[in-house]
Amino acid sequence: MRFDTVIIGGGLAGLVAGISLQKEGRSTAIVSAGQNALHFFSGSFESLEEAPQRLSELFGEAGIRLHYCSGIRLMPLGTFRPAALSLEDVSLFETPGFARKALIVNFAGYHDFFTSFLAEGLEKAGIACRIQALDLPELERIQASPSEMRSVQIARTMDRIWEKVVREVGALLGDEDTVILPQVFGLRDITVPGRIRQAMPARVVFVGTLPPSVPGIRTQALLKRRYEVLGGTYLSGDEVLEADLEDGTVQSVATRNLGTHRLLAEDFILASGGYFSKGLRSNPFRIWEPVFGLDVDFAGDRTAWYDPAFAADQPYMAYGVKTDASLHPLLDGMPVKNLYAVGSVLGATRPEFGSGAGLAVRSAFRAVDAILKEEAL
Ligand SMILES: Cc1cc2nc3c(=O)[nH]c(=O)nc-3n(C[C@H](O)[C@H](O)[C@H](O)COP(=O)(O)OP(=O)(O)OC[C@H]3O[C@@H](n4cnc5c(N)ncnc54)[C@H](O)[C@@H]3O)c2cc1C
Repeated sequence: MRFDTVIIGGGLAGLVAGISLQKEGRSTAIVSAGQNALHFFSGSFESLEEAPQRLSELFGEAGIRLHYCSGIRLMPLGTFRPAALSLEDVSLFETPGFARKALIVNFAGYHDFFTSFLAEGLEKAGIACRIQALDLPELERIQASPSEMRSVQIARTMDRIWEKVVREVGALLGDEDTVILPQVFGLRDITVPGRIRQAMPARVVFVGTLPPSVPGIRTQALLKRRYEVLGGTYLSGDEVLEADLEDGTVQSVATRNLGTHRLLAEDFILASGGYFSKGLRSNPFRIWEPVFGLDVDFAGDRTAWYDPAFAADQPYMAYGVKTDASLHPLLDGMPVKNLYAVGSVLGATRPEFGSGAGLAVRSAFRAVDAILKEEAL
């Protein structure tokens, strides 16, 4: 099978690259092995203090609206973090004391939403809190099994019964000006969180739960759908195993499911993520990139990999594949001409791209621009 570009990895970086290239008329395939960081997404894109115009456009066309205000957001354990570019679900505040009194509502039997920590954090900020649990018969079947009482299963039901939830939470409200709910709404219908906010007789703040992240899964699904609507080929649950290189250029890659039918392309983008997604692998002696065997930037002395202070920025997180200025990764010191490395396979931070989503998005756009420029020559 031949494409203009084959992308290895279908997380944020791979999807941003794939959608952008499809929009420009290139034929692309994304091979995506499994879960990616979006499935654990907090709802805020780190190191994106404002949306580059083309990111807002790309997300908007996929049906995802982003917002930013310089301020803070409420985290699942009741702490606050500086705001970043966020999904609409996320409430951004100017100060921790954003309310007078809050009603924190959970669903009976759901343990992945930390109401006591939230109350403690909010009370420190001067917000009086009351915690209530809603026992909904619609959740009875999944309540029976703690392994099923998880964010995504609850969210499937919530898209159907959110109006009832608004009514029942409304009935619990006393003189609170704010209702705090777990972020388990709008899995399939992105309009639900906004409609809850409109219908509730108090301000509604959605707060993250333990993963999987409902807004993250929704974001991934909407970007994937947009990519496929544009004609992209998304090979879900497949994995690129190895590549064939000739004269410093990639000729083809082999995947687990396609067997002897190799994927051929003019360009390849490596968007396989960091350790978490197995784009980078490690043992006590070395760190390596498994598909191409690319050069990885890491300290030879293993004691330099980590800082014994647990909460410190850990040096190993910054390690990633080495590239030239055009994001061509190095193999034995030489750039691979038709391969680009983007996203967290580059390491958790890169001075020119930032970290987190900022790194994924900016590096993906950089690779796309380079590919389109090459094509125009
Ligand atoms: C748990 C977690 C939570 C995070 N939360 C946030 C957050 O809330 N906000 C934020 O800004 N940043 C967050 N980050 C940082 C995050 O890394 C980036 O924001 C960004 O989403 C990374 O995107 P990516 O596409 O580079 O990699 P990933 O999202 O890791 O995607 C890589 C994909 O490549 C696939 N893959 C790997 N190898 C192969 C192969 N050989 N063949 C085919 N597919 C392959 C993987 O299965 C995976 O699907 C988080 C990171 C982690 C690990």
